[in-house]
Amino acid sequence: MSIRAAVMTAPGAAIEVWTLDDPVLEPGGVLLETVASEVCGTDVHLHHGRLAGVPYPIIPGHVSVGRIAESRGVDRDALGARISVGDVVTFYDVAETCNACWHCLVARQPNRCPSRRVYGITYSVHDGLLGGWAEAIHLRPGVRILRIPEDLDADDVIGGGCGLFTGFAAVDRSDMAMGDVVLIQGSGPVGLAAAAFAGLRGAARVLMIGAPAARLELARVLGVDAVWDVTRTTEEERAEEIRARTGGRGPDVVIEAAGNPAAVPEGLRLVREGGRYVIAGHYTDVGEATFNPHTELNRKHVEVRGQWGTDFHHVVRALALFARHRDRMPLRRIVGGRYGLDEAGRALADVEALRVTKALILP
Ligand SMILES: [Zn+2]
Ligand SMILES: [Zn+2]
Repeated sequence: MSIRAAVMTAPGAAIEVWTLDDPVLEPGGVLLETVASEVCGTDVHLHHGRLAGVPYPIIPGHVSVGRIAESRGVDRDALGARISVGDVVTFYDVAETCNACWHCLVARQPNRCPSRRVYGITYSVHDGLLGGWAEAIHLRPGVRILRIPEDLDADDVIGGGCGLFTGFAAVDRSDMAMGDVVLIQGSGPVGLAAAAFAGLRGAARVLMIGAPAARLELARVLGVDAVWDVTRTTEEERAEEIRARTGGRGPDVVIEAAGNPAAVPEGLRLVREGGRYVIAGHYTDVGEATFNPHTELNRKHVEVRGQWGTDFHHVVRALALFARHRDRMPLRRIVGGRYGLDEAGRALADVEALRVTKALILP
């Protein structure tokens, strides 16, 4: 038997479909028949070579949902729930965190562990079926499998996808207080999820700057109170209107999920004095930004935090909250297109051109 996979061979190169050998499952390994994987902004950036240390050729696709096709002795998910062949599950895409190094044990920041690897990003196709744009995914021993919560289905989970978890992590990282006004920069999957979670965490109001219009309409559905189309307003216009809605002070918390360096100085200018700014949209290197450290940071007494990736607890807690509030989080509506393996290149192009907010790969 052989398995087809869409392979990103090098930055800028066309996506190719390769036929790979069936993996040999080791004890503790699980083979998933892929139900759906996603194309997110990170995949677009990987295709432009904007992340260091990516071992091309890779099988992209980090957050995925699959049906257990084969298991060598794994009968519980990461939280102890029973799983068996035929069940549809998802998994935490980060693997091999060592729990033995300085970052893991002393700083207690496993997201900075040097051993950490990510499915669909930092594994080469030569390492195996370790990405979601393939007919099957090999979950190596220790990969944290999660049953999909009862109140959710595969479409919800993949509709939320990595943006769901990153958006959750960004709000978590902001330590926002109930009653805060929160501004989200960016209306992609991360920004939309962050907006929804900021509302659930008790924001008095959620504001958003983004584009295009269809995403901003979805933001309204997710509970965003006011939106500004970044392509139809100037920074001055936005600043004036946002200040007018925040007693002249600016938002208490700003979360950057735009992935555009220009958003960062704007966010620093908008956040209120003594406010907090979380940067979560620069997972890849898209360039530099300049700001005035006196007027926009020191004198403003602003706190800036970066959020690198997600930890396992973010994934578990995000899914639990999503399951509880599924009715007000129609994230499956983010999905704009479904593509086969042979169409993965077109899916990437459509995401890059903002023709779809999220594309799914259905191998
Ligand atoms: Zn470590
Ligand atoms: Zn992603």
